[in-house]
Amino acid sequence: MDFKKSQKLYKKGLVHMVGAVNSPVRAFASVGGNPLFIKKAKGSQIIDVDNNKYVDLVLSYGPMILGHRHNKVQKAIHKALKNGYTFGASTENEIKLAEIVCDAFPEMDKVRFVSSGTEAVLSAIRLARAFTGHDKLIKFAGCYHGHSDALLVAAGSGLATLSIPGSKGVPNDAVKNTLIAEYNNLDSVKKHIDEHKDIAAIIIEPIGGNMGVVLPQDNFLKDLHELAKAHGILLIADEVMTGFRSKFGGAQELLGVTADITCLGKVVGGGFPVGAYGARNEIMEMVSPLGPMYQAGTLSGNPIAMASGIATLRELKRQDPYAEFNKVGERLKAAMLFAASENNVDLKVNRFGSMINPFFTKTEVVDFKTAQTSDTKKFGIFFWEMIKNGVFLPPSQFEAWFLSSALSEEDIQKIEKAIQVAMKAVASYNK
Ligand SMILES: *Cc1c(COP(=O)(O)O)cnc(C)c1O
Repeated sequence: MDFKKSQKLYKKGLVHMVGAVNSPVRAFASVGGNPLFIKKAKGSQIIDVDNNKYVDLVLSYGPMILGHRHNKVQKAIHKALKNGYTFGASTENEIKLAEIVCDAFPEMDKVRFVSSGTEAVLSAIRLARAFTGHDKLIKFAGCYHGHSDALLVAAGSGLATLSIPGSKGVPNDAVKNTLIAEYNNLDSVKKHIDEHKDIAAIIIEPIGGNMGVVLPQDNFLKDLHELAKAHGILLIADEVMTGFRSKFGGAQELLGVTADITCLGKVVGGGFPVGAYGARNEIMEMVSPLGPMYQAGTLSGNPIAMASGIATLRELKRQDPYAEFNKVGERLKAAMLFAASENNVDLKVNRFGSMINPFFTKTEVVDFKTAQTSDTKKFGIFFWEMIKNGVFLPPSQFEAWFLSSALSEEDIQKIEKAIQVAMKAVASYNK
């Protein structure tokens, strides 16, 4: 396996692109080496410009839950393309996608479509502030909610990998209303609530996915919602990653919890730029044109993206792959733990539904602090061995791997074999 064309394109890309990538998670900063350039993908497979073939566990960081270019999605997109690309006026497909989304998330009476997860979350926060009349916000360390100013504090994802505490260019004023709590620690939330009377919202990834996979413990989410309710604070579930992925109704359906405002992205567009935020009528009626909270978008509800989203969600509902995801996920978890114990590698594996990833540590990973005990050097070695054995993983310790319903038995065995080889390589680094 060689990466000559990728290397060539990387050098070329550096001239007019920042780091040759349009999103920092795509850079290989924490695993070493140069990023791969992709030529195409189909089903469970992704192919780079050097014609290396991989089983894809990145899936564009989640959206491609059916695998790449599913026939039904492709057909729907082609059909939509014939009618035009964008109109600046409503189309019937927006209503159809809104129906599917509101059916899946019963707490949503109405939904507004935007073009990214970042936009969905920043709008949801504006909405919570408009509705409560308060400014403060509680977020959890290690949770990532997109790159808007107020949320670039103690965020996970690319920021975790690059160890940037926040970001340059974010004024102190923009984050002064953001309070940080610890994941799975209700007392850390209570402390803020005791100290501040003007909290608009608590925002959380109901299943942590941007510090690696971190599961909510026991009744943490239920207690959090009770606590919020008791103080007139809105709970925002950032389900940009987990929506339609944990279950059709997201982490909320899987865990039997609810939130006041829900944010979606990734799967909802089936690979096209769609984000969404929604809530009960009373809250959504704050949004312009019904109410005084302004939020807009030239390409919001884009017809091609809506067609892709509708076709993806209909097919996903038909397939109902969630039980299968659990089985495959458990197999990969078992394979990693077995290979680790055979090779005396300290390893914890966190998994929830179709999100999974290993942490090279002895410590149980329950929050951002414990996630950071992972040996990222070992992950880098593991990553490159997986690549060389035909498995495409996110190039970071702090990103979840994703399963698609296109995975075949052959693919799964290929991943299991790659894990055995990669864990051996980690062990020899140990010595
Ligand atoms: C990916 C992600 C976002 C940001 O979505 P973009 O489409 O990248 O802007 C926000 N929140 C969570 C939980 C995410 O996983």
